[in-house]
Amino acid sequence: MRGYFRSETLARELDALCISFDRSICPGYGWIFPGPNGVFNVGAGYFFDAPRRPAVGNVRQVFASFVERFPLARQLLAEAEPLGELKGAPLRTALKGARLARPGLLVAGEAAGSTYSFSGEGIGKALETGILAAEHAFDFFSGKLTATTLGPAYQQSLAEALAPRFAAYETAQQWLSYPVACDFITARAPRTIRQGAAGGAVGRVRRPRRAFSWSGLLKALAA
Ligand SMILES: Cc1cc2nc3c(=O)[nH]c(=O)nc-3n(C[C@H](O)[C@H](O)[C@H](O)COP(=O)(O)OP(=O)(O)OC[C@H]3O[C@@H](n4cnc5c(N)ncnc54)[C@H](O)[C@@H]3O)c2cc1C
Repeated sequence: MRGYFRSETLARELDALCISFDRSICPGYGWIFPGPNGVFNVGAGYFFDAPRRPAVGNVRQVFASFVERFPLARQLLAEAEPLGELKGAPLRTALKGARLARPGLLVAGEAAGSTYSFSGEGIGKALETGILAAEHAFDFFSGKLTATTLGPAYQQSLAEALAPRFAAYETAQQWLSYPVACDFITARAPRTIRQGAAGGAVGRVRRPRRAFSWSGLLKALAA
């Protein structure tokens, strides 16, 4: 669930991606993403397919809990102008939960579960599966694949090209379903981010790309 909020004042101070792993939301997290023109994307969500659920399963309450407990989110919502309502949706993840093909049909995008577990990144992955589906449809219409081989060939290409990365994100999500693992990861996160998150000292949060990335988090987990 997320909403958009505008604050020119905070936008001058905060240019970092902020993630809060809080015990009350675990397994899940809250976020603040600065965007253009002083607009922030503020949201929270939890992992429905994790080994455990947060104490409160209602996603509006999960969002409320994030805002109440994360000082920066509390400050932002108190000062910023809301742009529209909070909105949310379930995300289908891990390349699981759907048949990927049947005669006459190829399934791509989120219908195929093409969003990453835990990070919820789905736009690029939906495009990748769409491109793969289009390439296989092209091969069918140009006679390289038949009605019988089209579906299996598409499924195999998804398994080879994408499945290992999805498995890595799924593993990361399982780890991040436990507060102790979240504490471990945040303890290893760059100091600038921790200061911003813990104390709301937004002036010290800088250069998010260099300080924090999902791939860095995955590497930390793997280590
Ligand atoms: C709150 C939230 C935040 C997110 N944040 C990010 C993010 O920061 N980065 C990121 O990469 N991803 C993010 N995602 C995930 C991302 O939105 C999805 O992974 C992505 O949109 C999937 O693309 P898609 O084209 O497969 O499906 P969709 O974007 O869901 O498109 C499917 C379309 O099909 C239409 N449709 C459905 N049924 C029919 C029908 N019968 N006939 C005709 N049309 C139909 C729907 O109306 C819709 O427009 C977020 C998702 C949510 C819910």
